[in-house]
Amino acid sequence: MKTSDFFRQDKPVFSFEVFPPRNIDNDGAEKRVCETMDVIQEVQPDFVSVTYRGGGSNPAKATIQIASMIKDRYHTESVVHLPAARLDRAAVDDFLARAKDAGIQNILALRGDIPEGGRYSDDFHYASDLVAYIKQHGDFNILGACYPEGHPESPDALSDIRHLKTKVDAGTSELISQLFFDNEAFYKFVDRCRFAGIDVPIEAGIMPIMSTKQAERMRAMSGVELPAKLSNILDKFADKPDALRDAGIAYAIEQIVDLMAHGVDGIHLYTMDNPTVAGRIIEATRNIIRS
Ligand code: FAD
Repeated sequence: MKTSDFFRQDKPVFSFEVFPPRNIDNDGAEKRVCETMDVIQEVQPDFVSVTYRGGGSNPAKATIQIASMIKDRYHTESVVHLPAARLDRAAVDDFLARAKDAGIQNILALRGDIPEGGRYSDDFHYASDLVAYIKQHGDFNILGACYPEGHPESPDALSDIRHLKTKVDAGTSELISQLFFDNEAFYKFVDRCRFAGIDVPIEAGIMPIMSTKQAERMRAMSGVELPAKLSNILDKFADKPDALRDAGIAYAIEQIVDLMAHGVDGIHLYTMDNPTVAGRIIEATRNIIRS
């Protein structure tokens, strides 16, 4: 099934993101994802997306195999991530052929991060190039990434929105947002998108903060703001890991409740492959996300 069909239902879409193992050929490589899936399955998510780990031993194989396993074993629709920054057309063709053989219908088309001192793929400079290419080379549903607080490389919010419109016009049917901690920033971003004529569904990306180190890493990598309320939590519980984890989960739950009350198109939960945390969020929001 194409994930775009879920947005035609009369309720918000609820999805999760999982990591494939670094080495898919190791014995028991699927174990961690299965532990997370066993928990996630309880709320019957609309779909689960599988990241592409550039540093893994065979990232394309790992992503496709896990996405296929999620469909077959858990009867849940899956999405494969495909960052093209270091791939040429032949590698993308190979990925698309393997995804098709595995029955995968949904691809999150990404540019990927550019390595320090590295260069763009000669074939795919931006995600919009990859979207246009996939559109011409198969019957896939294409998703894209978006950044409520702006992509870190973007000089300003306006050009980011302009490039996002190009990506959507190239054939992207829905967007998943970068994580954020300030719901107001997300609502303003959605308003700007609608004003710019970007009318595809936009899912809100939520990641529970588990440690001060993780929060700082997210801020450094993604440029997301830590609102004063979250900074206070991080300061207060910096030396108390259990308390900080509980507070991070509570913060994410509060964000989800507010987003649902606001009538968002959907919520995409970054699980970080932590079944315990995913389970606690599901437990607290079960009736809200399925209302
Ligand atoms: P693009 O849409 O191409 O945008 C990148 C930058 O280029 C932006 O600043 C944009 O404004 C600018 N731009 C776009 N078009 C033009 C143009 N024509 N001219 C000038 N500038 C332009 N990475 C992974 O490696 N693996 C993953 O599995 C993965 N999953 C992700 C999932 C989500 C939901 C998100 C939000 C990100 C994910 N990433 C992943 C990270 C992503 O690859 C990086 O954020 C990357 O830096 C940008 O990818 P993009 O597809 O958004 O790029």
